[in-house]
Amino acid sequence: MAKKYEGHAIGIDLGTTYSCVAVWQEAKDRAEIIHNEQGNRTTPSFVAFTDSQRLIGDAAKNQAASNPSNTVFDAKRLIGRKHSDPVIQNDILLWPFKVIAGTNDKPTVVIKYKGEEKHLFAEEISSMILLKMREIAEEYLESPVKNAVITVPAYFNDSQRKATKDAGFIAGLNVMRIINEPTAAALAYGLDKRSNCVGERNIFIFDLGGGTFDVSLLTIMDDVIKVKATAGDTHLGGEDFDNRMVNYFVKEFKRKNRIDISGNSRALRRLRTACEKAKRFLSFVTETTIEVDAISEGVDLCFSLSRGRFEDLNMDLFRKCIDTVDKCLADAKMDKSSVDDIVLVGGSSRIPKVRQLLNEFFKGKDISKGINPDEAVAYGAAIQAALLNEENKISWNLKLMDVTPLSLGTSLKGDLMDVVIPRNTTIPSMEKKVYVTCYDYQSSVGINVYEGERARASDNNLLGLFSLRVPPSLRGSLPIKVSFSIDADGILNVAAAEDTSGNRKDITITNEKGRLSPKEIEGMIKEAEIYKADDMKFKKTVKAKNQLDDYLYNMGKVIDDKFVSSTLSPLDKMKIKAGIGRGKRLLDDSSMQASTSVYEKYLRDLESMFESTVGLTKKGEAEE
Ligand code: AMP
Repeated sequence: MAKKYEGHAIGIDLGTTYSCVAVWQEAKDRAEIIHNEQGNRTTPSFVAFTDSQRLIGDAAKNQAASNPSNTVFDAKRLIGRKHSDPVIQNDILLWPFKVIAGTNDKPTVVIKYKGEEKHLFAEEISSMILLKMREIAEEYLESPVKNAVITVPAYFNDSQRKATKDAGFIAGLNVMRIINEPTAAALAYGLDKRSNCVGERNIFIFDLGGGTFDVSLLTIMDDVIKVKATAGDTHLGGEDFDNRMVNYFVKEFKRKNRIDISGNSRALRRLRTACEKAKRFLSFVTETTIEVDAISEGVDLCFSLSRGRFEDLNMDLFRKCIDTVDKCLADAKMDKSSVDDIVLVGGSSRIPKVRQLLNEFFKGKDISKGINPDEAVAYGAAIQAALLNEENKISWNLKLMDVTPLSLGTSLKGDLMDVVIPRNTTIPSMEKKVYVTCYDYQSSVGINVYEGERARASDNNLLGLFSLRVPPSLRGSLPIKVSFSIDADGILNVAAAEDTSGNRKDITITNEKGRLSPKEIEGMIKEAEIYKADDMKFKKTVKAKNQLDDYLYNMGKVIDDKFVSSTLSPLDKMKIKAGIGRGKRLLDDSSMQASTSVYEKYLRDLESMFESTVGLTKKGEAEE
């Protein structure tokens, strides 16, 4: 039988601020976090564009202050959302890059690349980050990687999940499964504890990252992990705490110096970086300083910030997190005293006030510090990838049962939401309902599919709609069978059928809410290939330039050497020096932007000239 997946399978935690990649290591019977080329275990989810190249990860983040309008981050906050969404409108005010409304109100990032304006969707930005994570894995594994499990916040809705899957596809990945971040963390935790886990244990995962917040309550028993309930906010995390700090210091700076930096993207970018750093410090110290030299009009920004002030600025957000914990337990119908372990995931879970509030909520119960909050999600994703990939041998016969985070249903007469699959139902799942026509002799019925918890259907998220032709009859007399099925990725399919006519229709929730069409995805895959080819070309040119530069440097050193110099004729010395000079001019002349082949040819010419000159002289010397 043909194998479903060929080759390696990796786990990718596609984070708002940082991403992380891991792979299952059979020999060690555990997953391994893969370092990037800088030696870092997490990679900034940043993409930048310049006049000459595209940068992804650390390289993009490192140049953010000098190229703010072309350095894109937070794509995860945009993915699967509309431009007019109030949360997006709020974020736009603080982002140094431009976001406009594209077709279907789809948020579109506008950047300049090689002197040309480009419009990019969040899926494309995310695909570039996924591509980077794939390359990091390929470098480490020394082989091509196609298969991946990608994680998303448990509270991501249908369109956000699909958009993430599309991003994987554009990055050339075969997305084996989309899994929820807290569930992935639970896998990591479960693997760690599998040998000493006796009986049923209730585990509470608290995942507060850069841009999203998720909680999940799970039980582990006999190698079965079952998610009981999940709750969260796809727009709450470290970035919001940074935003509060940025807003506060913009006001303070204006009050003190009468200079408004709110429209100055470079100043905001520099202030944001300083705030994020200070926030991290405040997890370990109680007072720190925010300093940005010559932030605007040559004036320095310098303020001290106490942990208490930071907590005041964000207290409502911290409390919101605890309310969500409460909601999750209520959904699972479990008392907090029944929770055995509390596991912290996500960088922002290090904030002392968050830990303190959580500790108080759980009445002093210990918070597990066993797993690394930055890496647990990727680690769990790699376990899931190994479980799905028959090429991997994993000594854990695990069964994972996840849930759907939002209720799914249709609208009835009077805009009433009729739930077909309630939230927190174990997936994959299939539910059927029978409806009847509501008017005499109607010739078609409209099926509107919504997700959400509101009683009024139109207050929920419309995922898609379609109509089914039916034979005209008296109202209430014609049964319409509707089925909802959710696959293991949490993605929904809806079908409706009328038996007497044999009419049947499946909903393809593709273009609703601005999801990419297959044609657009195809276009983006082609674009991604062009970007990749550009990157390769750029890397090749840089390599050729560096080789030439090294050679010129070594040549210079050799002819400066007294012994070698004494063996060269004045004419040869002149020839070599002229060659070095021309080479340096070639490298320095930015207006020329010579191609790789020009540098390579010049290097070859120099090598043969240098070797024949020095070689001949030496030969002549030997003959003397
Ligand atoms: P994640 O999405 O899990 O990578 O989390 C990244 C977020 O965690 C960013 O907003 C970071 O600023 C934040 N973070 C990382 N370390 C700390 C820390 N020590 N204290 C507070 N926040 C942190």
